[in-house]
Amino acid sequence: MTASFNHPAIGVTCRGLVYIYRLDGYDVVALSGVDLDVTPGESVALVGPSGSGKSTLLSLMAGLLRPAAGRLSVGERDLAKAGALELQRMRASDVGVVLQGASRNLLPYLSAEDNIRFAQGGVPRDRREDMPSARELLELVGLPGRAHAASLPRALAPGERQRLAVAVGAANGAGLLLADEPTSQLDTASRDEVLDALESVHRSGRTVVVVTHDPDVGGRMGRTVTIRDGRVGSEGRRGEDYLVVGRDGSVHLPPEILRLHPPGTLMRAEAAPDGTIRLVPTIGAGRPQ
Ligand code: ADP
Ligand code: MG
Repeated sequence: MTASFNHPAIGVTCRGLVYIYRLDGYDVVALSGVDLDVTPGESVALVGPSGSGKSTLLSLMAGLLRPAAGRLSVGERDLAKAGALELQRMRASDVGVVLQGASRNLLPYLSAEDNIRFAQGGVPRDRREDMPSARELLELVGLPGRAHAASLPRALAPGERQRLAVAVGAANGAGLLLADEPTSQLDTASRDEVLDALESVHRSGRTVVVVTHDPDVGGRMGRTVTIRDGRVGSEGRRGEDYLVVGRDGSVHLPPEILRLHPPGTLMRAEAAPDGTIRLVPTIGAGRPQ
């Protein structure tokens, strides 16, 4: 059985999105102008090297951090302008979040079912009727049966715990589910079960955005967006990788090309009549020593 949810899938739009961590004495620019559209009902993986800004982007979409500059909308909401109360309301009913590390999403002293019910506690009254039941959610993530429903999180295997975290993230029936590294530290079989759970949530009519450093996880999502140095570097669709032309006209060269032609290399861009572009490096000029 597939639980059905009456709330429509929610999309995300980022335009020139900037985020800066302000530390003692210096700033870290974690995102330096992200342009990205996630259409309602899509499943997207945010991939890319460690420290590239994936978790920061996910936290911004979740309303856990506030943009320093640029535009960010989640559904109809403009998150750059939203006040604390509006962000809180959004987190309660419009967005489901699975934080990195299953245990951060679960209360250790509550059963699987009660963890889900607890997560549903903050949903506004007028949205409760069409919220899925705890049983439906456990079934959705492949954890049916009384034994699991009554189990404390520590009695579950790591992969099961992570699937419970997905159920808790999806518990408010929101149209957008965000998950940060939901499959890290799992064996292949457990990882695939977590991916099945995410796919079920997606098929139940929601938008799903997953942060992952695992290319296999990216392959299971409809689209992969590679974040590099705080910006969208490239996009993958059906196994093909594409560069993305940024708003300022810039493109990120893939690492293997960057190794051949390091930053500072002078290049001429030549367009052929069929639209193909050739990048021709200028020999002997502009290369850093
Ligand atoms: P990813 O999830 O791709 O590994 P993050 O979004 O966690 O990347 O980090 C992006 C950048 O921001 C990195 O340079 C990281 O060191 C920095 N960063 C992340 N979280 C914090 C924080 N709480 N305080 C300061 N810097 C941070
Ligand atoms: Mg991260």
